[in-house]
Amino acid sequence: MAQRDLILLGPPGAGKGTHAEYLEDSMSYTHLSTGNLLREAVANGNNLGKQAQDYMEAGELVPDDLVIELVTERMAQLDCEEHFLLDGFPRTTAQAEALSKMLGTIGREEPLVINLAVSDAEVVRRLGGRLMCPDCGTIYNVHRDGLDIGDKCPQCGGELYCRSDDQPEAIRNRLNVYEQDSAPLIDYYQQRGQLVTIDAEQDQQQVSVELAELAQGRRPC
Ligand code: AMP
Repeated sequence: MAQRDLILLGPPGAGKGTHAEYLEDSMSYTHLSTGNLLREAVANGNNLGKQAQDYMEAGELVPDDLVIELVTERMAQLDCEEHFLLDGFPRTTAQAEALSKMLGTIGREEPLVINLAVSDAEVVRRLGGRLMCPDCGTIYNVHRDGLDIGDKCPQCGGELYCRSDDQPEAIRNRLNVYEQDSAPLIDYYQQRGQLVTIDAEQDQQQVSVELAELAQGRRPC
């Protein structure tokens, strides 16, 4: 079976970024993370970054039209042999519909959608301990990796920090936003026969194995 384009769905902290990095390295996926693209825009201080910053810091969604434009531009640059993996997009039904239209325009098939399922309690535990490298974007966890804020990134030496939207109030807000705006995408893709769910609370390596099998079509959906 041929490798499939993928969308990773799941609440904040489900491991979308971590698993996307793994699939990027192991299967040469082109990892498109709207969160990373938006953080870059904020760091560059460009027009998009200025418009997105306040929403992001509050844990709110950036308006659909801005994010759809960003993804449309990026998708238009894909080669036909490249396989993409979307992480953090779509997050609303309007974004999902826009994505379908985009794919039709560039003549690509609908991707497989993988829902990484984790409980709210686990999300709060994971995000409370999440660290990020500002230079290479690698994600760590205080509980899992024995690293802390200010430590050097083992990959590149960058100084690890806790994202402002990983503070307790923003975490609660992001979970509410997820329930209201993004959880309906599970039904949306289920009804289209594109969805498969993985228990993302199991051992990280087991999740990676299941993801790789699904991506290569070696496991029935
Ligand atoms: P993430 O790194 O995916 O958790 O995204 C961080 C923040 O970026 C989110 O809390 C939103 O503020 C914003 N963001 C990322 N992707 C989207 C999207 N598809 N739609 C709207 N806002 C987004």
